[in-house]
Amino acid sequence: MSGTEVRGLALARARLSSFDRQFSAEVGVQQPDRYRLLDALPADQARIARGSGASYVAASFGAQSVSIDMRSFNRLLALDMRTGLLCVEAGACIGDVQRFLLPLGWYLPIAPGHPRATIGGCIAADVHGKNPARDGTFRSLLEELQLHVPGHGLFNLDARDSSGLFAATCGGLGLSGTITRATLRLSRPPRALALRRVLVDDLAQAARVLREAANAHVLYGWHDSRPEHFGRGVIHVGLSDDEAIAPAFDASPRRDLPAHIAPWPLSVWNRGGIALANAWLSQRWRRPGIEAMAMAKALFPLNDARRYFAAFGRAGMVELQWLIPHDQFEAFAAALGECVKRSRPRIALISSKIFDGLAHGLAFNGRGISLALHLPAPREIPQYAFYEQFAELAIAHGGRPNPIKDSTLDEAMLRRAIGPFDAIRAELARHNPERLFGSELTRRIGL
Ligand SMILES: Cc1cc2nc3c(=O)[nH]c(=O)nc-3n(C[C@H](O)[C@H](O)[C@H](O)COP(=O)(O)OP(=O)(O)OC[C@H]3O[C@@H](n4cnc5c(N)ncnc54)[C@H](O)[C@@H]3O)c2cc1C
Repeated sequence: MSGTEVRGLALARARLSSFDRQFSAEVGVQQPDRYRLLDALPADQARIARGSGASYVAASFGAQSVSIDMRSFNRLLALDMRTGLLCVEAGACIGDVQRFLLPLGWYLPIAPGHPRATIGGCIAADVHGKNPARDGTFRSLLEELQLHVPGHGLFNLDARDSSGLFAATCGGLGLSGTITRATLRLSRPPRALALRRVLVDDLAQAARVLREAANAHVLYGWHDSRPEHFGRGVIHVGLSDDEAIAPAFDASPRRDLPAHIAPWPLSVWNRGGIALANAWLSQRWRRPGIEAMAMAKALFPLNDARRYFAAFGRAGMVELQWLIPHDQFEAFAAALGECVKRSRPRIALISSKIFDGLAHGLAFNGRGISLALHLPAPREIPQYAFYEQFAELAIAHGGRPNPIKDSTLDEAMLRRAIGPFDAIRAELARHNPERLFGSELTRRIGL
């Protein structure tokens, strides 16, 4: 990191990369540690709030914008043990918050897979957790938020806000202002989970199991990506089991997945590496069984995945995540299976979840089954062509993409996938009239 000056204000200069490594830029970074410093940038300076930068895509930086790194605002301000309301600053990491709450008998039922995601990042991306069909998305936990708008100061907003600013901030990708704090509604966690493995032969069967188990605390599938076994896999169903013998919540040493993982020089996710990994995971998971697990571990299974991500090498990876309506999912899964047999893309991982919410703005929500695919970034044209084929299939089956994860999306694709895209864009622009806030992501998708 080096220094720079924007009209009298000293800023750090840093080269930031998205988690998927598909975009990097050298940008100015402001790290305010007092509320008054939120007003320090020149009024017309383009900017964007940044949490930990734990988005797959470049959502919290961009070539023209100063990134406002909010991690100094990380205090837990108040916890009402009677009502389960937590007031917390926006830069606190979700992993730290959960570790603090669990021994007190509370938790946030919705937490994304990356423990370093901040509260501000979870609101701005309206993230989902381990079972969105049961718990919804992050906005459903939000009682109140505080937003800083340059030139106008701090606003306290809740769902009754009639200006549209509260709604535009939830899932608004940082375009409406900088979230400084939030009051969140907590839940009582099960002390431990009985994590059951249910084997499935294909994606259609996976969808049926996900629907039947939709009330589980934890619910997600892993699927074989090899063309000859495509979709075969296992659904992890985590039910509350207070009798289970599981490690204490806070006994394990903290070793959270970093927001930035140093890549290995080369990708090991070539055809041989992918075949080996799928065979190994199949052997490990494709056995019926039940495992007792502490909530703290179940919430962040990716903490053990550091080498998995490093193994994508310097070229990085792409995550494609689409939500397909229930009535289209079987046809979609069959067409996808055919497409994989024909194109034989290199897919390192496939996972499935179930959603039962209302699509709102650009946030990833709705009713259906989501599939997330991890692919090594293309070194060859067929790999790139598969991104497009997957998106075309998803759109043809009424699918909805996840902008916070997928760096292959562009404005044209979002307009085709999300009916009211232009109305959503106009509403976001109403709260960002000077286009003061912007990131690589928001520029790429035409916001
Ligand atoms: C390995 C991995 C697993 C993941 N698992 C999941 C998952 O299970 N479910 C899911 O939904 N997502 C998941 N994600 C995505 C991740 O949770 C979101 O991208 C989240 O927004 C990252 O939080 P952050 O604080 O690092 O935000 P950043 O990446 O820094 O920023 C993300 C967005 O939030 C905005 N933002 C951040 N802080 C503020 C603030 N204070 N005020 C206003 N806007 C702000 C930024 O401007 C940007 O638009 C995963 C990502 C990774 C890399």
